[in-house]
Amino acid sequence: MTTATQPELYHLTAHEIRDAIREGRATALEVVNAFLARIEAVDDKVQAYVDVWKDKAQERAAGIDARLNAGETLPPLAGVPMSLKDLFCTEDGTTTCCSRFLQGYRSPFNGTAVQRLYDAGAIPLGKTNMDEFAMGSSTENSAIQKTYNPWDLSRVPGGSSGGSAASVAADECAFSMGSDTGGSIRGPAAFCGCVGLKPTYGRVSRQGLVAFASSLDQIGPLTKDVEDAALVMNAIAGQDPQDSTTAHLAAPDYTTALRDDIQGLRIGLPKEYFEEALGDAMREKILTAVSVLESQGAEVVEVSLPHTQYAVATYYVICTAEASANLARFDGVRYGARAENARDVRSMYHESKSQGFGPEVQRRIILGTYVLSSGYHDAYYLKAQKVRRLVLEDFLNAFEQCDVIAGPTTPASAFPVGEKVTDPLEMYLNDIYTISSNLAGIPCLSTPCGLTPEKLPAGLALMGRHFDEETLLRTAYTYEQHAGLDMGRPPIS
Ligand code: GLN
Repeated sequence: MTTATQPELYHLTAHEIRDAIREGRATALEVVNAFLARIEAVDDKVQAYVDVWKDKAQERAAGIDARLNAGETLPPLAGVPMSLKDLFCTEDGTTTCCSRFLQGYRSPFNGTAVQRLYDAGAIPLGKTNMDEFAMGSSTENSAIQKTYNPWDLSRVPGGSSGGSAASVAADECAFSMGSDTGGSIRGPAAFCGCVGLKPTYGRVSRQGLVAFASSLDQIGPLTKDVEDAALVMNAIAGQDPQDSTTAHLAAPDYTTALRDDIQGLRIGLPKEYFEEALGDAMREKILTAVSVLESQGAEVVEVSLPHTQYAVATYYVICTAEASANLARFDGVRYGARAENARDVRSMYHESKSQGFGPEVQRRIILGTYVLSSGYHDAYYLKAQKVRRLVLEDFLNAFEQCDVIAGPTTPASAFPVGEKVTDPLEMYLNDIYTISSNLAGIPCLSTPCGLTPEKLPAGLALMGRHFDEETLLRTAYTYEQHAGLDMGRPPIS
C-alpha cells in the first residue's frame, strides 16, 4: 500500500527516476519492474495499454544498468519508462492505430521521435490505446477497447491520446508520447491531470507517425510535470532530414527556459474563449490560475481571436480532406486487412475498407472525399484554407499585444463514457479551444490547474508564438511552482 510520504518508484517523475538511477538509489530494472507490476495491478481497470512489452523492457533496463556499472555516462532519460501511442512506428510489437485494418501490422522501422527517445535512454513499456487513426476526443473510437479515466472510471480519458494520458495519470509509465492534430495531446492531458505539449508545427519530426492530417499533426509529450515536458522536448525536437516539414532551426535546451521568471510577461485572455461555451467551474479554475501568474509579475491583457467561431468547421473540412488522401494507402493490397469475400479489384477495395475501418473513420473519409471533389472543392476546401489563414492572422495580431495566450483546454472536465459517442457534432465541439493552434501551427501546452467540484482535473492552456515553446514551459513551470496545487493522486487503488 502506498502512502503520501513514501512514494513508490512508479509515482516518480522522469527527472526523479533519472536521478534515482544515477545516484544508485534504484536500478533501471527495479524501476521497470515497479511499473510493470503497476500495470499488472491497475490496467485491467484503466485499459490504457493495448500491448505491453515486458521482456523487452526488462532487457533494455538491464542494458542501462550494465552501462552504468561499466562507468558510462548515461544519456538524459536513461532508464525512464514511457508508453507510446499506438500510431508510432516501432520495430517492437505491432503498430495498429487501434484499427482493425492494421491488426497485427509490424513496422519495419522506428520513427524518428521514437528513435531519439531510445537514444536518450527511455524505455518503452508498450503501446497505448487511442481513437482509431487518432480520430476522436474520447478514445471510444478505438477498435480494440475503451480506456477509463483514472480520476473516475465512469468517465472518458479524452482522446485521441487517451491511453497515453491515462497511463501517465495511473502511474503506469513515467511519461507518454502522443500526437495532436486538433487537441489529441492536450485534451487527454487536461482530462487526466497531466501536462501535455503540442509543439510548433515543424518542431518535431513526424517521420514514423502514421499520418492523419499532415498539415496539422504534431508529436508531443504527456508528462507528470513541466520539467519532464522540457526533458522530453530536448530529446525529440529538431530538424530531421527524413521529414522535410521540420524547421531548420537549432532546438534549444528547454530545461534552461525553466530558470527564468515571468516578470513583465504579457498574458492575453481571448475574450471569445470566455463566452457561453465555457462551463462555470472551468472558467473559475482558469481565472484563478491566471491570477497566480499575475501574482508572479505577469501582466494580463484582453485580446481578441475573432475567427474562433469558424475554427471547428474549418478544421473538419481540412482534416477530413487530408485524411481521405492519407488513408487512401490503406487499400487491402499493400497494408493491413484484405477482405476475404472480394470478387474483383473494386469489391476488394470496397469490402476491405468497409470491414477494416470503423464508423468515424469512414465518416471522415467520405466527408474528406466530398470536400475535395470537383464542383465542391472551391466551396469547401479552398474556402477553409482561406479561413485557416484568418485564424493564423488572429494569433499574429494578438501576439503583438501579448507574449502568451491563456485559456481553457476544454470547455468542461471529463465527460461520462458513452455521453457523446452517438453525437459527432457534440464530440467535435469539445475541441473548440484546441483546434485553432493546430490550424495556426503555434505551440500550445496544457497544464493541470486543480480539480473541479466533481473532483475532476481542469487544464490551463497556454499558447505561444511559433517556435516559442520555451516561454510556454517557463510560464507553466512558474505556475506549477507557485499555484500550491494539491490535486492528490487519482483515486484508483
Ligand atoms: N478530436 C479531434 C478529431 O477528432 C482531434 C484529434 C487529434 O488531435 N488527433 O479530429
